[in-house]
Amino acid sequence: MNKPDPQKNFTVTIIGGGIGGLALAVGLLRRNICVQIYEAAPAFKEVGLGLSIGPAAHRAMPLLDPHIRDIYDALITTHADSPGYESFRQTWFEIVWATGAQEGELLLNLKALPSGQTTLRRASFLEALVSLVPSEIVHFGKRLESLIEDDGNDGNGGILLRFDDGSSARADMVIGCDGIKSRVKEAMLPVESQLTQPRYSGMYCYRAVLDMDEMVEAVGDQRARVSTLYVGRGAYAISYPIMRAEKVNTGLYILRDEWDYEDWIRPATKEDLRRDASGMGRYAKALAERMPDPSQWALFEHPHISTYCRGRVTILGDAAHASTPHQGAGAGQAIEDAHVLAELLSDSRVTSIPDAVAAFKAYDQVRRPRSQRVVTSSKEGARLLCLCLDGVGDDEDKLRKTFQERLRWLWDLDVQGQAEQAREKMTGYLNASCKSRL
Ligand SMILES: Cc1cc2nc3c(=O)[nH]c(=O)nc-3n(C[C@H](O)[C@H](O)[C@H](O)COP(=O)(O)OP(=O)(O)OC[C@H]3O[C@@H](n4cnc5c(N)ncnc54)[C@H](O)[C@@H]3O)c2cc1C
Repeated sequence: MNKPDPQKNFTVTIIGGGIGGLALAVGLLRRNICVQIYEAAPAFKEVGLGLSIGPAAHRAMPLLDPHIRDIYDALITTHADSPGYESFRQTWFEIVWATGAQEGELLLNLKALPSGQTTLRRASFLEALVSLVPSEIVHFGKRLESLIEDDGNDGNGGILLRFDDGSSARADMVIGCDGIKSRVKEAMLPVESQLTQPRYSGMYCYRAVLDMDEMVEAVGDQRARVSTLYVGRGAYAISYPIMRAEKVNTGLYILRDEWDYEDWIRPATKEDLRRDASGMGRYAKALAERMPDPSQWALFEHPHISTYCRGRVTILGDAAHASTPHQGAGAGQAIEDAHVLAELLSDSRVTSIPDAVAAFKAYDQVRRPRSQRVVTSSKEGARLLCLCLDGVGDDEDKLRKTFQERLRWLWDLDVQGQAEQAREKMTGYLNASCKSRL
């Protein structure tokens, strides 16, 4: 960060240093806004495997900070990393029938213009984001337990943060980026959050990263090298190249109404995996055979909540709107959130805590409808991929049309327009609070 903006009479405290929290921190620091980050873990870490960011969030990255986009573009794998597959550069996924008479045939070459499929190793992206954040603003091993807005010792008000190591800190403004089990959300909406706990989405999955050579042996060259969604009845499979096409990220997703295990990851056997893949045809079965770990991962999602902010506190990313992964959009939504918040908080009219509260309200007004629609459409996306979405089923023409319509809505966002829309709403709140002070 250059010199802190002297006009800003507040510091922003971020709880949680995942992709959402770090992207926001980088965007705020670039705008010379003072930031502190409190992260529960002893160091930044990502446990997930591959990550894919869609076109809208890709366009939001340079607006947040050009370094984020540079990092992303330097780390990604695309279809062009496989010699001979350059013509698939703009393909997002090829959608292929998993079962039935058309097994293995192409339903749709789904393109994402202009970037096509771009994927990277989550941990590499997080590490690179970390390199943009000065270490002195990060506090590790600080799991937030409670957050209370109070009058402060000096009578000026503030937020008291208490952590599980017994320590505490004070904050002016808090942004909860603490993931699907957000403590900030619970503190912000104590009653509503009890009624809107993350819920099982009706699907679990098996996941594995396989070597490209093994994948080619299992499903052939094109299916291994081109990102593929295999649509089946009650299940679907996915594969996409990562790490410069040396490895392939794979998953088998199973529709199942109930999840009767206390944890989100359930140990299972190879027989369970084989049984779940049994209706899926030879490609998905070949993937399942090669998955070394048959653990089942339940997919949870966030029921809609009535607001993303209250007073000096707001939430972003999975803390606000965790969705299932069927459109590869969760981290992208966190980046879109971060862009809008950074733009609002850096507006020259936002100088005081009440102004920042107005920014939070405008952020909520603009980001909540879109991100909650993503949660809904991602869940429906699972049924679409399992050939059982109402009104579509396994009708070829309807499947093609519905896939394209849904992704166009997700990707064709005017990202700068979204920030401007939020700015307009903020102007209304700022004017209203100005009048009430007169
Ligand atoms: C199987 C799967 C595949 C996915 N694939 C994609 C994809 O391809 N593309 C995509 O865009 N999205 C994908 N997603 C979604 C994506 O992973 C999430 O949306 C994204 O990681 C959310 O980022 P976040 O920063 O909001 O939360 P998180 O990544 O959950 O980060 C939260 C951070 O807060 C910290 N924390 C938690 N509690 C506390 C506390 N009390 N105090 C302090 N710190 C705390 C955590 O340690 C963590 O560092 C996928 C999700 C799943 C499950």
